[in-house]
Amino acid sequence: MNNAQATQWGIYAHIPYCVKKCAYCDFISSAVGKDTRAEMEDYAAALRAEILREVPPLRARWGDAATVYLGGGTPTALPAALLTGILETLRTAAGTPVECTVEANPGTVDAAYLTQLRAAGANRLSLGVQSFDDRLLRVIGRIHTAAEAEQAFRAARAAGFENISLDLMYGLPTQTLDDLKKSVDEALALVPEHISVYGLTVEEGTPFAAAEAQGKLALPTEDAAEEMYDWLTAALPARGYVRYEISNFARQGCESRHNLGYWRNVPYLGVGAAAHGYVDGVRLGNEPDTEKYIRAIQTGRSVRTPEDTERTRTNAMEEYAFLALRTREGIDTADFSRAFGVDIDTVYGAVIEKYIAQGLLRRADGFVALTNEGMKVGNEVFAAFLH
Ligand code: SF4
Repeated sequence: MNNAQATQWGIYAHIPYCVKKCAYCDFISSAVGKDTRAEMEDYAAALRAEILREVPPLRARWGDAATVYLGGGTPTALPAALLTGILETLRTAAGTPVECTVEANPGTVDAAYLTQLRAAGANRLSLGVQSFDDRLLRVIGRIHTAAEAEQAFRAARAAGFENISLDLMYGLPTQTLDDLKKSVDEALALVPEHISVYGLTVEEGTPFAAAEAQGKLALPTEDAAEEMYDWLTAALPARGYVRYEISNFARQGCESRHNLGYWRNVPYLGVGAAAHGYVDGVRLGNEPDTEKYIRAIQTGRSVRTPEDTERTRTNAMEEYAFLALRTREGIDTADFSRAFGVDIDTVYGAVIEKYIAQGLLRRADGFVALTNEGMKVGNEVFAAFLH
């Protein structure tokens, strides 16, 4: 397919299964049970059907998809044959993407599995390690050990993955700064291309929320969690990982192209149960219930949820601003003017000046971006961009 006039766009495919739910997680996924194998097969078939239905019209308009991202849940909770089948369908429908990421749980992959994934076109692996401390891994309900995480990383390298990201968490129950430093040292010793770090937040409806309500969750104090954050955000750049987004650090040139697309308002199609997309300026959502999703696809019905509403221009400007502010480069003011036909200072001048005066925002070369201090209180600044 001629890609010369291509618009950059991506595809997100959601896999709503995990081997077991982690104690902190409220993502849409269900634990794999003994009856799930048949459902997984139906799900993979439904997802492939949705891809073949939804992708070609976009490819005809925009050319091949630049990025594909399989997330979840745990994509690698699927048997390898189902996951590689989905990747093959994506390649048939969307062309060969520049970046094809698969999220993987270290407890679900071995050398054979990773070799099949690589052969099916995945060229970036995002490994959910969270910690290299076995005690903490048990506390948060992960299914793998630190040694298994390291083995998975090495197996991925041996399988030909030259672009690997590790997810790490801080602010975990009973975690100390020393625990975090040890985990980060172990992570850096593997020399990944990319590291994502997330502070634990206790989400409603999770086992952690129940434990917290009973006073049984030994979270670090706010000061201790802040100390971990401050250490991380200084230590990773000092080791050559550029902080290109609030939670994401990468070696030069190894930023996640797909995720950068989210923050830069690049269009993407979401496929699968609970997937979200952004096409022609419209936010799209899919049926979140896996069984209903499968039935709808099988009977040729739409899987789009009613949240397919046209956003107002004001919503679009707000969203553009707070998504772009998550990145190191920030808001491209010329691009903002092109997108909305109005100078950013006409809309947000007072807010920008207020936060520049407080040292939380900065202007440089036509961009407005958070300072390091601003990244720490990002949500407060984002809120000020909402009308
Ligand atoms: S493996 Fe990931 S998506 Fe699944 S329950 Fe754990 S954190 Fe959530």
